[in-house]
Amino acid sequence: MTAIAVLGSTNMDLVAYVARAPGRGETVTGREFRTVPGGKGANQALAAARAGGEVVMIGAVGTDEYGSRLRTTLEHAGIDTDLLHTVAGPSGTAHVVVDDEGSNAIVVVPGANGTVTALGPGEHAAIAAAGLLLLQLELPLRVVTEAARAARSLGVRTILTPSPVQPLPAELLDAVDLLIPNEHEAAALSGYDDPHAAAQILLRQVPEVVITLGGKGCLYAARGGETVPFPAPEVTAVDTTGAGDTFVGTLAVALGEGRAVPEALAWASSAAALCVQRPGASSSMPYRSEIGAA
Ligand code: ATP
Repeated sequence: MTAIAVLGSTNMDLVAYVARAPGRGETVTGREFRTVPGGKGANQALAAARAGGEVVMIGAVGTDEYGSRLRTTLEHAGIDTDLLHTVAGPSGTAHVVVDDEGSNAIVVVPGANGTVTALGPGEHAAIAAAGLLLLQLELPLRVVTEAARAARSLGVRTILTPSPVQPLPAELLDAVDLLIPNEHEAAALSGYDDPHAAAQILLRQVPEVVITLGGKGCLYAARGGETVPFPAPEVTAVDTTGAGDTFVGTLAVALGEGRAVPEALAWASSAAALCVQRPGASSSMPYRSEIGAA
């Protein structure tokens, strides 16, 4: 099996449910509070592990109580956390306020994630041993770029989720094999709202693009080829949190198993459709046995 290395964030999501989010200077009483292990890196790692991938997580947690819970969550999923360093100080946290309309406001404090600024020999060895590297943008851009370039020099395929979206240096994009933005990120990176046009612009910088379109599915485009739509299964969504990370983690497993892109996209869409039908982020990610044959 091809191993998947994930270089990315681990955050504890601190979620308060309120009727109405407070305005500046205001205090409101919330209804419920939950702590949920998250972070885009950890979520993609978890999705890949549940889909049957052999996963190595590279990143950092803090010495607070969240750090040990974040590590344990990944270990229980069978993820190798030897390169998830424990650093003095707080873990990454995401402070989330969800109102009765389902809208949310989020403050992310990077904490330990912000200390991951360079790769050591262990990280280089893990990337070299992997068949695929998954990257997102919740760690400092400079280490994400270093990892992509290391993977490129080693012939390891790199998949980048450009979230949270920000301008990306050419030295990073030059080393990315597959870019997977959602439609908002694709528009921000390309300057085009139309995802077909955005895909063509993005192909000037990376050889392959998948633009996810929520309930409308996704678009796949490779240099020199047509832009191909892949519809999502029609389901009733109750909570779309984590759908994007489920999609990417599952897709990575399928590609690592050598499946062709259309089959891999169908499998990832099937997994993401299961995720949106259940509440929660990490808790709603499906296991391999649940994901429909594709
Ligand atoms: P999120 O931030 O909610 O995790 P995202 O914005 O990164 O998601 P989306 O484009 O919303 O990414 O969704 C990713 C994939 O999840 C889609 O391509 C699709 O396969 C699946 N998906 C999302 N919403 C739905 C839905 N309502 N019905 C079926 N599949 C869905």
